[in-house]
Amino acid sequence: MKNERLIEVQNLKKYFNVDNSNIFKDEKKLKAVDGISFDINKGETFGLVGESGSGKSTTGLLMLRLLNPTSGSVYLEGKDIFKYSKAKFRHLRKDLQIIFQDASWALDPKMIIEDILSEPLKIHNIVPRFEREKEVKRLLNIVGLSSKDMKKFPHEFSGGERQRIGIAKAISTKPKFILCDEPVSALDVSIQSKILNLLRDLQSEYDLTYLFIAHGLNVVRHVSDRVGVMYLGRLMEVGDVHTIYNNPKHPYTEALISAFPHTDPEIESKRIILKGEIPSPINPPLGCVFHTRCPKKMDICEKLVPKLTEVDKDHKSACFLDERVIENSKGGEGIENK
Ligand code: SF4
Repeated sequence: MKNERLIEVQNLKKYFNVDNSNIFKDEKKLKAVDGISFDINKGETFGLVGESGSGKSTTGLLMLRLLNPTSGSVYLEGKDIFKYSKAKFRHLRKDLQIIFQDASWALDPKMIIEDILSEPLKIHNIVPRFEREKEVKRLLNIVGLSSKDMKKFPHEFSGGERQRIGIAKAISTKPKFILCDEPVSALDVSIQSKILNLLRDLQSEYDLTYLFIAHGLNVVRHVSDRVGVMYLGRLMEVGDVHTIYNNPKHPYTEALISAFPHTDPEIESKRIILKGEIPSPINPPLGCVFHTRCPKKMDICEKLVPKLTEVDKDHKSACFLDERVIENSKGGEGIENK
């Protein structure tokens, strides 16, 4: 099933207006997502990584139509989700679910678990009314909780257990796609692997498709089939997880990989420390947005925007260190072409 396309993101952009109170100055835009394209196959986990401010969470929210884009498209099974009317999209909502970093965001503290899990079953008419209680018990069991827990409130559970309830809620509507927005980053390390194993088991059992968002590559490489690396609203590299990890083409990916903790002092000494902070997305650098921090920067990097280009089979990079990227980017954005 993993070569059948489920989601296609095409040239997606999301710009936010910021402080436009001075009418004599040009409108300022925060470019959270700036023209990204990738796809996700059925039954696949696509990992999206990058530092805070890279645009990965905004991308996820756009893919669920929880935000409207400035331009671009997100296709679910060939249909653009932004083209549906609000009423028609309501039926599609059950196919697109989310697991939050903090499960509390999805769990009303005033409701018992039975009501929390019954709500989506009722709204989307997943099971007949008389079967709802049985379905809630089934959902709790498959995420590793007891059906006796259904009368409790969210605060009576640990963080890991709350995340299990959040997962039960996300899968309750039998979705086609789940956005996992840093689902383990707020949990203890000992709990993280259990939640990741649960997500993996549910994926193979129910043929789920995930977008897995994380800060670094260390968690993502254990759960993803393919990975996209984001920086300042753009995709720097996309490829199979083993290729990205073992043969990265982009200096930013190399820096993320070198940040993995190593016990070997020789490997540790080769760690790439990026200088400075990620620049403001209100005023991103011209040319390659990574050039202000890139240890391999060349003259062309300030003048032309590198296009994400196929550099190997199923492996794309947006770095001029590969000649094909230079060729593919000529005539595109950048002061060289003004
Ligand atoms: Fe570095 Fe230039 Fe490649 Fe950008 S295009 S990552 S600045 S070498």
